[in-house]
Amino acid sequence: MKGLFNETSQAKHLFRTIYCWDCQQVKTCGKVNWEYCCRCAYQNQRERWTDYLTYEKALTYEKNWREAHQRDLYWLAKGESLEDRVEFADLKKFYRQKSWGIDLVEWLRSEWVLPIDSQCAKQWRENKEHLPEKCECSERKAQENYLFFTECLKRDREKLGECQCETSEKVRVDYIDSEGSGWTYCEKCEERIGSAGHHGVIKNRNDPKFWGLNTKEKVLCGFCLGNLIESMPRRKKYLFWEYGKRGYWG
Ligand SMILES: [Zn+2]
Ligand SMILES: [Zn+2]
Ligand SMILES: [Zn+2]
Ligand SMILES: [Zn+2]
Repeated sequence: MKGLFNETSQAKHLFRTIYCWDCQQVKTCGKVNWEYCCRCAYQNQRERWTDYLTYEKALTYEKNWREAHQRDLYWLAKGESLEDRVEFADLKKFYRQKSWGIDLVEWLRSEWVLPIDSQCAKQWRENKEHLPEKCECSERKAQENYLFFTECLKRDREKLGECQCETSEKVRVDYIDSEGSGWTYCEKCEERIGSAGHHGVIKNRNDPKFWGLNTKEKVLCGFCLGNLIESMPRRKKYLFWEYGKRGYWG
């Protein structure tokens, strides 16, 4: 009985296998990210940072962001809702910090353009002629951002080379029901089988390969898999029973 207990806790461990949250097809190796497979993580990052991937883009983004931020501040300063006032108070506190040293209310009243960053603010404190309309801090910051994000991507691209994510060729379901859930048939008995989530892939548990079985069928229901239990490796047998106990076979 003790042996069985050990096997079961080992089997439980298998529940924690991590599939990419995005494509749900790939087991993550964690080189770039733990929640997403390396390829998806890299792609997502590229998309998220698309505004920084050339110097010109970074500069445009920086300037647009600044204008929008300045507009928001004026708007918040006049805001009357509690939410606005709390947010504005936080911003005032932020700009009052030692590294910025700015009285936000006074700046807005004087209609000055706010410093680009704390470095720019510092130069302004030392020399009141240093104003964002004339200084080149926008250009400096755009350059810094551009270098930072391209460097990160370059590093991740190198990590992609060492990627050991495991692709499992999971089978996608064939049908979508009226509620938008995917489903397919068991390839032996034609029992209906639901898909995992909205990505339309079949659940691991319906994949004979997951159970260490080498069958020509790619999708099987719990009943048909149960008939093949003697062909499963020991560890998978226990896991199969565990699934049964948890009522996963519905
Ligand atoms: Zn992925
Ligand atoms: Zn400056
Ligand atoms: Zn990987
Ligand atoms: Zn079946």
